[in-house]
Amino acid sequence: MRQSTLFAPTLKEAPSDAVVSSHVFLVRGGFIRQIAAGIYAMLPLGWRVIRKVEGIVRQEMDAVGAQEFHLPALHPREIWDATGRWEVMGPNMFRLKDRGGRDMCLGMTHEEVFTHIARNELRSYRELPQVWYQIQTKFRDEPRPKSGVLRVREFTMKDAYSFDVDREGLDVAYEAQRKAYCRIFERCGLDYHLVQAHSGAMGGSESAEFMVQTDAGEDEVASCHSCGYAANTETAVSRLEPTESSEPKVEPSRFPTPNLNTIEELAAAHPEKAPAHRQIKTLVYVVDEKLHLVLLQGDHELCEAKLESVTGGVEVRPAHRDEIRDALGADPGSLGAVGVSSLPVLVDSALEGRTEMVTGANVDGFHIEHVSVSRDIPSAKFADVRLVKAGEGCARCDGKLEVLRALEVGHIFKLGTRYSQALQATVLDAKGNEVPIVMGSYGIGIERIMAAAVERHHDDNGIIWPQTIAPFQVHVLALQPGDDAVRAMAEELYLGLLDAGYEVLLDDREERAGVKFKDADLIGAPIRVAVGARGMKNGIVELKRRRDGELVSVAADLPSVRTEVASKLDER
Ligand code: ATP
Ligand code: MG
Repeated sequence: MRQSTLFAPTLKEAPSDAVVSSHVFLVRGGFIRQIAAGIYAMLPLGWRVIRKVEGIVRQEMDAVGAQEFHLPALHPREIWDATGRWEVMGPNMFRLKDRGGRDMCLGMTHEEVFTHIARNELRSYRELPQVWYQIQTKFRDEPRPKSGVLRVREFTMKDAYSFDVDREGLDVAYEAQRKAYCRIFERCGLDYHLVQAHSGAMGGSESAEFMVQTDAGEDEVASCHSCGYAANTETAVSRLEPTESSEPKVEPSRFPTPNLNTIEELAAAHPEKAPAHRQIKTLVYVVDEKLHLVLLQGDHELCEAKLESVTGGVEVRPAHRDEIRDALGADPGSLGAVGVSSLPVLVDSALEGRTEMVTGANVDGFHIEHVSVSRDIPSAKFADVRLVKAGEGCARCDGKLEVLRALEVGHIFKLGTRYSQALQATVLDAKGNEVPIVMGSYGIGIERIMAAAVERHHDDNGIIWPQTIAPFQVHVLALQPGDDAVRAMAEELYLGLLDAGYEVLLDDREERAGVKFKDADLIGAPIRVAVGARGMKNGIVELKRRRDGELVSVAADLPSVRTEVASKLDER
């Protein structure tokens, strides 16, 4: 491709709202442009990268015997009603009506439609296993689209689904996908962590996420160096040091705590009686429109994803001040569960068996001391709802947990029979019994891979593409295209390298050398070959490896340059 005819609008400045590097450099490098919040256009350079990523994903899916489909993005309501997800997906789903007034939606994912096809077409265990996939646009009206193409409202997903007659079959399909995912991320130049995950709106028994470590991510992963345990903090567990608890002897009693509204304030005012670890933090949550009290040790944090799992709630939010006052008669700062019988009380497991605790009295300006959790909060239902913290003990070994920021790039689920039962997708097994198909679902975000690669591979000047997904592998710069020797050499190298099978961009524009160098760094091809008038006088061109800036002078002839390019590209 000749740059004089390429549409690659590079920019000196990043858009003012760009915070993460992938957003900054994909826009500045002329790869993407925003059309509306969470809606992006892929420009020619961006589209080349996307097609590379899709190509790798497609090859690895085909290699494990998955068959490519292409399903509609526009779905009728009925299929989503059958699984209950027309409701569950709430405002995240884009909904519309057709001209006949029928409800439709834009696909957020395709479990429903793939299972619908399976229900209509698959009859016998003999037709299984099947693994089906597609690379298709998904629509999600995300509450906070942000970070360039990391979280958008229209994106491309490779989604695959496996159909088996039994659990053992599912295990095999899941394992094949897991391995294919590892190869995909390796080939895309992404180092990843494979972590235990929360299944969220998908349901199902087991799931794992592929996480790329970057501050641009919105997830947190707890991991243990000693034993290799790694889990999304949405499900991660940790080992706490045991806390001493005596037999409950003293009855609970109220004491005044005027203007002491936070755990810290109370602990500072009463360091003996109410250090943070001896306080009970009382949160009020609305789970599917029903108020719940959620109790944690004072210095622990709630994990909302665990609360969702434990309650099976779909819409989970903190209660508003007036809802709290109506239910408990006090404001946050003096809340507690002692004496509350009208609301479900969910208590974090770390509080099980604890005595001599302090909690709010449900009277503004008062707390209660000498609280024994089991004696004084008899309706307590215990569950793990605590968010793990860095430095806590690993639950599996003696190690300590570390917590990293990460970006989810892929997610694999053992769905089981949730969708097949809902949509009545059954087959006859070997004994002639009708059984629901056992399913798995496996997703990868294509734009996310592109953006994650930029997060992991860039410097202050621009992107450093992994060779496998770079828009071009070699960027030949004719520094003074008006100079006959320069132009002739650059042309020869361009055509010769194309001929050798490389993807080559030739900067043949009438621009200053400085502009060309800057653009080359922004575009980020792994190898840059600069052909300049001075070098040509000495019979050399200059080859730079983008990754580490290594510069070498090479004899200005095609075979020498070709050999050097080949060795540089193969080295990684
Ligand atoms: P997240 O927690 O980041 O919202 P998710 O759990 O909703 O992701 P899945 O439904 O498992 O994601 O989708 C599979 C893959 O699709 C994700 O691993 C991610 O790579 C990609 N993906 C999901 N939502 C988006 C989005 N809004 N923008 C871009 N890619 C996305
Ligand atoms: Mg999501």
